[in-house]
Amino acid sequence: MMRNPREVLDYLRILVDRYIPREDQPLAHGLLRRLYTDDLLDEDLVRLSAPHPDGIVPFQRAKETPTPVQLSPHFSLVELTRTSTGLLNVPGPSQVEAMSRLCRAVLEPWRDVVGALKINSGFRSPAVNAAVGGSRDSQHLRGEAVDVVPVGMGLELAWIQLARLTNLLPVDQAIAYVRPPGRGWIHVSSRAVAPRRQLLVQLADGKTYSPWATFPGPLVLSEI
Ligand SMILES: [Zn+2]
Repeated sequence: MMRNPREVLDYLRILVDRYIPREDQPLAHGLLRRLYTDDLLDEDLVRLSAPHPDGIVPFQRAKETPTPVQLSPHFSLVELTRTSTGLLNVPGPSQVEAMSRLCRAVLEPWRDVVGALKINSGFRSPAVNAAVGGSRDSQHLRGEAVDVVPVGMGLELAWIQLARLTNLLPVDQAIAYVRPPGRGWIHVSSRAVAPRRQLLVQLADGKTYSPWATFPGPLVLSEI
């Protein structure tokens, strides 16, 4: 029988030490992260209990945000709201719901086939969307779209797999952006109403779109 939180924590530490963390053990990962957060809390407690020479306890910023909010097993809210613009990018409840739907219904099944996907852009606040030159009614504004790059597979193959899955998944619109290797990306969206299952390819000119069904290729430009 454990009597205090300290003992419970020590017990959990022993448990975690015996785990060999693997990707399919989100529980172990969550636990490790939680223990790290607990360590930070411990440090704070020590700081608070020791009287500061000036009688003031200095404010310390948390070193790391606590356990990330997961939208689905492999995609977190942090990943889908990150922005390099430095602008505020905070989604509301309906946008979080839309992101979660996209992750669960489209990204996870696609990831099962193609492996890890790096999110380049997910939800965008109006300010972020304007800063990155997004269209005025972009689905990114509603949390319905992401721009992704496959990590362990070529863009072309990952796109072909997505196109194959589109009949089975509620893909609203998917667009392949044709660029030299390593520079292209895939935009994919899902929405609450009936999906359009529209597959397009944006050509290297950055303006012209071709339906995937009639696109002559190639999807990735060779580097000359
Ligand atoms: Zn996009």
